[in-house]
Amino acid sequence: MDYQALADLLFPNVTDTPESLEEKYPPRQVPEGAVITRMAPSPTGFVHLGNLVQGLTSERMAHQSGGVLFLRVEDTDAKREVPGAVEVLINTLKHYGIHFDEGATMGGDSGNYGPYRQRERAAIYHVYAKKLVSEGKAYPCFCTEEELSAMREQQEANKETTGYYGQYAVWRDRPMEDVRSQLDAGNPWVLRFRSTGSIENQFKFDDLVKGKLTITENNVDHVLLKSDGIPTYHFAHAVDDHLMRTTHVVRGDEWLPSLPFHIQLFQALGFKLPKYVHIGPLMKMDGTSKRKLSKRKDPELALTYYKSEGFPVEAVYEYIMTLLNSNYEDWRRANPNAPSTDFKFSPKKLNPAGNLFDYAKLTDVSKNEIAKMDADKVYTLLLDWAKEFDPDFGVKLEADPVYAKRILAIGRGGKKPRKDLAVWKDAKPYMGFFYDEYLEKPEFDDRFDKKLIAAALNRFLDSFDLADDSGVWFEKVKAVATEIGFTTDMKAYKADPSAFPGTVADVSTFIRLAVTGKTNSPDLYTVMQILGYDRTVQRIRSALSLLR
Ligand code: GLU
Repeated sequence: MDYQALADLLFPNVTDTPESLEEKYPPRQVPEGAVITRMAPSPTGFVHLGNLVQGLTSERMAHQSGGVLFLRVEDTDAKREVPGAVEVLINTLKHYGIHFDEGATMGGDSGNYGPYRQRERAAIYHVYAKKLVSEGKAYPCFCTEEELSAMREQQEANKETTGYYGQYAVWRDRPMEDVRSQLDAGNPWVLRFRSTGSIENQFKFDDLVKGKLTITENNVDHVLLKSDGIPTYHFAHAVDDHLMRTTHVVRGDEWLPSLPFHIQLFQALGFKLPKYVHIGPLMKMDGTSKRKLSKRKDPELALTYYKSEGFPVEAVYEYIMTLLNSNYEDWRRANPNAPSTDFKFSPKKLNPAGNLFDYAKLTDVSKNEIAKMDADKVYTLLLDWAKEFDPDFGVKLEADPVYAKRILAIGRGGKKPRKDLAVWKDAKPYMGFFYDEYLEKPEFDDRFDKKLIAAALNRFLDSFDLADDSGVWFEKVKAVATEIGFTTDMKAYKADPSAFPGTVADVSTFIRLAVTGKTNSPDLYTVMQILGYDRTVQRIRSALSLLR
């Protein structure tokens, strides 16, 4: 077989050469040991936590080593693509603070190793496809869908491995005339890799996460180009990662079964094999067993979920770092205020089996992160969130920033800051009562006589003075308790609750319910200071009107 003639027949319009592409995309000038890596997601419209795990791993490896991180859009599978998905992808990754040095951006491509969208690289793939054909390493296959399914059925009936290999690779060595007549008839074809591997052979491979692997060679003649001339992921990533001078491929371990084929492909193309970092899946507990997070069952897999719930990016980032490197938490304890980029990230510390995603832990981390922020920062982030997900609340926050910040400053700073908020969605239930429209009607405990509650509220009103300090203020609350026959001696009460009609804590609750509509609120004295005299009094009066 004259392979060069076959290559010219299949790719008559390809005139560019691998050599000219090598020159166009020269090795990068980076320091020794610098990691060049990429995120290469497919624009399916769904950006998930796994993307972020992979993104942060890549980002740390690249930037920590003085290397480069780029974004490549793997859009070869048009069927899976939804309109606007590339924008969703770019915006979501940006929201999570993954900084790309080059690649696809909202305004087109940036960088010298593009195009960074695979569909725009068709001509490049064809150069290498032609090269493989000319060297006898790839060939056209004209099998129809029906022929392939008949083959599969036969293999299943014979209890053989399914696939296009060995004797089943029927187009592997067909004469030129057969190819020519199929082409003349206008029949569609795919380009297949001519595998020289055997499943009898095994070899060792070192993955940066999985460690030493024993791999069985691939013997299947996989598809390189589909019938529309668009490459499969396998072929495209080999060409792209070579020409973009990728040193490390960080990806999900669902690609591990394809690795034997990828290794062959790099060899056949004469490319240096990058290092591989195969990340295990994210799992969750389902009853007593672990399972992979699933797009269908688990809303928390989608990154949009964290945005709409209102997890600050810092919290998600911080949590993922604790998942990825087990020593991160200790480091954080020792360096509470250091930027997380100071931490020495290592792919070797990733758990090869994947990680258990613990929502409760994320929530805790988030509470801590928010507790560390000052009121200005909380205000800015909360407002951003509210504008998108609770516009009515957003309008209120924005109408009086000074007021909102005074509220958000409650319990902030100091040694033991309050941890009321885990997500921005918690903010309205927590502080909504400061806005009259969100104030709920108090529901007093019917264990207490309404008249007694009213008496307590009236007495408090009589003595209330906004100028009091918190000590004096509380003495007055205690006085009210005593006046209505409640005890202020909590110890005595605990010893024998039946001996008292109520306590000063109950009186506080009456006042709190009247002023905030809730039994739980931030420090009541401070709440009144922020509401001011008139609004406090007015709220207590309207509560009194409900008690009549
Ligand atoms: N497009 C592939 C995916 O979405 C990328 C895998 C890789 O990073 O090489 O899974």
